[in-house]
Amino acid sequence: MRYALVTGGGRGIGRAVCLKLASQGWNILINYASNAAKAQETLSAVLSCGVKGELLPFDVTDAEAVDDAVRGWQEAHPEDVIAALVNNAGVRDDNLLIWLEPAAWQKVLSTTLDGFYNVTRAVLQPMLLSKFGRIVNMASLSGLKGLPGQTNYSAAKGGLIAATKALAQEVARKKVTVNAVAPGFIRTDMVDGLDETELRRNIPAARFGEPEEVAALVAFLVSEEAGYITGECIGIDGGLY
Ligand code: NDP
Repeated sequence: MRYALVTGGGRGIGRAVCLKLASQGWNILINYASNAAKAQETLSAVLSCGVKGELLPFDVTDAEAVDDAVRGWQEAHPEDVIAALVNNAGVRDDNLLIWLEPAAWQKVLSTTLDGFYNVTRAVLQPMLLSKFGRIVNMASLSGLKGLPGQTNYSAAKGGLIAATKALAQEVARKKVTVNAVAPGFIRTDMVDGLDETELRRNIPAARFGEPEEVAALVAFLVSEEAGYITGECIGIDGGLY
């Protein structure tokens, strides 16, 4: 049986991705770092779609924890395969560079880039052996154009887009696709506290996006039909860029 692993799947965009993929028949592994209650809610909603689902908690920055979790799951499920990975876990910790503390630089880069490396490496080999895989990386508009006050986040997401393009070329022959999605402002906990009324003046669509809209794009990229799309970074930003 094919499973999709969604990092940071307990809430926000990750939750919407879990539910959309579950509605399309994927079995779901929901990763989270600390918010077990939200992840449990997501699991209940996934199970109500009639597919299998499990929680797979780990911190994506902790290589050993990632390996242990993925290996443990694979040993318990010898017949099953993680055929899709959505590297969605991410954090922001904004400040102008001049005020940006080393910890905020490290945390944001590590969650996105070490997270991508740790989790992708843990699941890639079975995808290559089975000659099918879908990897979608959650980048950001910030990684394409750079946003002031987000040098750490822009660097992390820009690096993730570059890694997407490089890995796509490594694995295309094995029918594994690797793409990135670059959302603009999407209504989740991550944008709590931002002034939506002010910000939406600059968005051609004049509104923030919804997690479900991002999930629909991710669902297409992991589908069988998207097999000839790889190494792409697709914006979903209401025309902001
Ligand atoms: P949320 O803050 O709502 O959710 C973030 C998720 O990431 C949570 O599930 C959280 O887990 C998880 N997470 C954070 N750090 C780790 C870690 N070290 N290990 C495992 N999981 C972790 O954010 P969004 O849903 O808005 O963001 C999802 C992705 O989309 C991120 O990569 C973000 O950068 C990106 N994005 C978001 C945009 C937006 O406007 N919202 C715009 C562009 C990109 P837990 O619940 O356990 O805390």
